[in-house]
This record gives sequence, structure tokens and C-alpha cells, in this order.
Amino acid sequence: MNNLLMSEFRKELLKTDCIPKELSHISLRYKELFLLDIENGNIELEEVTKCQCGCDFLEELAKIDRFALPFGSYICKKCGLVITSPRIKSASLPLYYDKYYHPLNYGQEHLEEQEALFEVGQGKKIFNVLKDFLPAKKTLKVLEVGAGTGNVLSELKDEALKYDIEIDELGTEYNQDCIDKAKKLGVNIIYGDLATAEKYGETFDVVILSHVFEHFIDLEYEVNLIKRLIKPDSLLYIEVPGILDLHNKKHYNRSFLGYLIHAHMYNFTMYSLSNLLFSFGFKPIFLNNKVESIFQLGEYYQHENEYVRVLNYLELISDLSFFDENQTLRRWHDSEKEKAKNTEDGMILKKKKARNTEDGMILKKKKSIKLILHMKT
Ligand SMILES: [Zn+2]
Repeated sequence: MNNLLMSEFRKELLKTDCIPKELSHISLRYKELFLLDIENGNIELEEVTKCQCGCDFLEELAKIDRFALPFGSYICKKCGLVITSPRIKSASLPLYYDKYYHPLNYGQEHLEEQEALFEVGQGKKIFNVLKDFLPAKKTLKVLEVGAGTGNVLSELKDEALKYDIEIDELGTEYNQDCIDKAKKLGVNIIYGDLATAEKYGETFDVVILSHVFEHFIDLEYEVNLIKRLIKPDSLLYIEVPGILDLHNKKHYNRSFLGYLIHAHMYNFTMYSLSNLLFSFGFKPIFLNNKVESIFQLGEYYQHENEYVRVLNYLELISDLSFFDENQTLRRWHDSEKEKAKNTEDGMILKKKKARNTEDGMILKKKKSIKLILHMKT
């Protein structure tokens, strides 16, 4: 890796005089109000000095998020997890989500103006990712945490019916407007979170966290709650916006700064997520770069540190010409596709074989990145 090039793209990311995302007047107004609430202490922030893996060697990647709000991003040198700091304190999150999250993000003051929190098709997609791994039962108990307006569960139920599977669902949600909307869709939903679901004293065949996991502060606490809600053959579906998929995301403007948002406490790759879940006793049975993933309780092995891979990737996408040259874009695709293939097909590789494949792919990728850098200069 050329140090000069490296430092140039890192310097770019650390700029604060840029606007990563164009904001509507509603978003802008709420941004000002949010800053005011931070200033007067209504919303409290805290610095993060340690990664979830215990390492305190955090390197600064960015000083602002997509709204140009002063929330920085740091990458852990030991595991490659990208962490937001400062972050909103746990006690301030209810106020934040109630007052700021939706208007800031969606540029709409009222939930009624939004159709759904997720694009149509999300629940159908999730069912189809899950379906090959589901326990063979006629009725499945499904829990969705942060179920929003209930669209995911509603679609999932409809899709499951096509396969003669009945879904006995429970959704949890904090936002009352969302709960009302979900109820209208006929979704069984309650006010609360994982801890509330635990009080039900039930176990679930499937637990869904769709764009929720990256919002958690204490991942170990949340995963331990999940463990009390599942059985050995239960599936844990986690979907988060993967860092290594930014080149496919037009709405992030295909840029890292456009992707960063203060409400995401962590930013994952499929392997940094898998490594984290591994440390809590989970094995991946499906993974891809987007990140859509399925985990189950069980033994696995740790993938290598994602630090280098994340930085290599961010350097590549920092060069806009990267996206104009299709061949260059394909090159990244090809090297990644092969690496993800085995898990994407739902196959679990034998430990040793996986290590060999991974080492092979890393060598191949390094070569292609070198080639790209050569082509650029
Ligand atoms: Zn770490």
C-alpha cells in the first residue's frame, strides 16, 4: 500500500467543510434543533474510547456524518469494526428517536407522510433468505425487534403462507405512531424492545433485526438477551448496511461520508459482524457483503481482522473515477464474489478449507488492488 495515497484519501475523509448529503429544509431545521438540544444538555453524548473487542487502538476515519453533524467515525485496528464517537447516550435515545430520527433522515415531520420505514419487499426478501434454513415446522414463532410500521412482518407472513408456513409473530417498537400503523396491518406488536420480549417468557424460531443491530449501544447485552429468546435450532437474521457494499448504494452517493450516520453506533462488514457474533457464541450460516446474514448458536472460527480490507475498500471508492470505469468496478466484484460464494450459497465450509480459501482470496485481492492503483497513476 502506497503511504502517500493512503494519507491523501484519509485526509479527504477527515474534512469537515463538506456537505456529504443534500438536506431538505425540514432536515436542516431538525439538524439545528438537534444541535441545540445537544448544546443545552437535553441530549447527552459520550466519547467511545474502546472497541467492542476490547481494543483501545482506534483510528479516526471521519469527523462528521452524512448530515455534517460532528459525530466522528473510528476504525478499530484490532478487528476493523467502525465505531461512532461521540455517540448519543443510551438515556437520551428515546428523546432522539422520538423527536429527531425520522425528520432528520426522511425529511418528513410526520410519520403519516411516510409510507413505510422500509422499502416494499423487505419482508418478502427476508423470508426468502431464511426459507432454506428454517426449522421444519408448520407454525413458526417469529420476533422482530424494532418492527417499525409492521411491513416486514406483514409481508413475511404473506410470503410464508405461499409455502404453507404460518407465522406466529411478535414485533417490538418504541414509536407509538409506528405501533398504530402496524396494528392496522394486523401485526401483533408491543411497545418495547428485546428486554420487553424476554418478559413474555417465550422462545422464538426466528429473531429478526433488520437495520436495528447497528443502532444498539451495548451489543453484548443485546446479544445475551437474544440468547435467552432462542433455541438451539433458532435462526437469528441480522441485516445492516455493509461498509463494503457502498459502491452499490446510490442513495449514499457511493461515498463513505454519505453513508455515515450518528444513529449507527457501529458499521459492519459481513466478517466484522461474523467475528463479533462468534465472540458471543454464534456461527454464521449465511453471509453476504450487503450485509444480510443468518446466525445460529454454535462453534465457528474467527475471520481475519477487517482493518486492512475496510481501508483498502474506502480508498478505492474515494476515487470517483473508480465508478466510471466498469472494468475496475468489476474487478472488486469478482474478487469479493468468489470469497462470499460459499456462504452465500448457504454452505458452511470446513474450518481448514475456509482458511485456505480466504488466504487465497486475500492474495488475489491484493494483486487486483495493486493493479488498480497502477492503472490510476
Ligand atoms: Zn475491535
